[in-house]
Amino acid sequence: MKVEIISCLQDNYSYLITDETNNVACIVDPSEAEPVIDFVKKKNINLKYILNTHHHYDHIGGNIELKKKYNAIIVGYKNDAHRIPEIDILVEDNQVWKADNFEVKIFHIPGHTSGHICFYFFNENFLFSGDTLFSLGCGRIFEGTYQEMFESLNKIKKLPENTNIYCGHEYTLQNSKFCIKHDPNNESLKNKIFEIEKKIKDNKPTVPSILKDEINCNIFLKAKDLESFSKLRDLKDNF
Ligand code: ZN
Ligand code: FE
Repeated sequence: MKVEIISCLQDNYSYLITDETNNVACIVDPSEAEPVIDFVKKKNINLKYILNTHHHYDHIGGNIELKKKYNAIIVGYKNDAHRIPEIDILVEDNQVWKADNFEVKIFHIPGHTSGHICFYFFNENFLFSGDTLFSLGCGRIFEGTYQEMFESLNKIKKLPENTNIYCGHEYTLQNSKFCIKHDPNNESLKNKIFEIEKKIKDNKPTVPSILKDEINCNIFLKAKDLESFSKLRDLKDNF
């Protein structure tokens, strides 16, 4: 299985996961159809599945067109069936969704929205975290509570350290400024910032990030309790 990164809109990432044995692919969070269609055409891939982490327009914008064009099957959280366009397969927390050679564990991780899920390709160590965990940051709390977001992040923290985190947006550089402000003596963070700046300068994505690095560097994953997490989240909203 390989993951390819497709830039969409301003700073969104959609991810194409292709099974190289049969060229069957899933797309995670197609913000818009066009860049995905271009990519699929070029590579001659059979796009069979659309996986949505949550209902925000910048994650589902390409659903209808891609479904029409490829007859793709749309997978999303059961309680969000009313707001994920053209949804076909309703999944729930802790379910393993299997199709073709894909085996994906679903985690319900509310906070950013009430129906946010992530897709964990446990055989490959890929996690598609949407707008819940970003590299060096976490999503804004729109529909959930601080406690829900805190618990959702803790769920992700328990995955294997070598998990590759593919998040919904390229926010890493901006996030790093907040982290270093509140954690100025963190040597691993300083090293990570060095790497990030290099990638941005070369016009390369900063994803995937490795979970171990996030645990060491992401101030929201380092928060010891709900109170300090909530304080940080408020500060970040006005950063
Ligand atoms: Zn969102
Ligand atoms: Fe988003």
